Amino acid sequence: MRYAMAIDTKKCVGCSDCVVACQTENNIPLGYARDWVTETINGVYPSLQLEFRSERCNHCDNTPCVRTCPTGASHVIEGGIVKVTHEKCIGCGACIQSCPYDARYSSPEGWVDKCTFCDHRLKDGQNPACVEVCPTHCMYFGDLDDSNSPVSKVMANRKWKVLAPEAGTSPQIFYLI
Ligand code: SF4
Ligand code: SF4
Ligand code: SF4
Repeated sequence: MRYAMAIDTKKCVGCSDCVVACQTENNIPLGYARDWVTETINGVYPSLQLEFRSERCNHCDNTPCVRTCPTGASHVIEGGIVKVTHEKCIGCGACIQSCPYDARYSSPEGWVDKCTFCDHRLKDGQNPACVEVCPTHCMYFGDLDDSNSPVSKVMANRKWKVLAPEAGTSPQIFYLI
């Protein structure tokens, strides 16, 4: 099993509902977030296109954040989900420094936090909260090892890209282009 997410840059309207849903679902402290929305202008004038992207931890296959963690707090669970055990985290920030995506933050409670792919919801057969609430249905989630999963099916029929492939972390969030 290999969980992954594909996000359609052609359908995302930058509403940030995914950000609010994540903050609510995961009790994120005020002023912090596990996901965020970026705006990029592509093309050459006058042929310009605005690209909105909902971004979060890429749940990479090659994880500098896990390698640099001195306590084992950062780890990988079944399905390739990268997690942080809060009780083991000493807040040193080594993982934050090593992540090329700036996907982690220091929480006011003293530990480091990040996207979990909402693994607590997956256990109940539910989609991640951000996927569930997206009004344009631009996020596809599932098991890449299952050719019938939403993420596998959409990736088989569309072109896609990953962010910062040169970082070599093998990210598992794919942007449909
Ligand atoms: Fe680690 Fe950053 Fe990759 Fe997430 S995006 S798995 S925090 S290196
Ligand atoms: Fe590990 Fe926490 Fe240090 Fe990150 S801040 S490297 S999770 S102990
Ligand atoms: Fe937040 Fe869950 Fe979406 Fe990750 S998968 S950004 S934890 S709502």
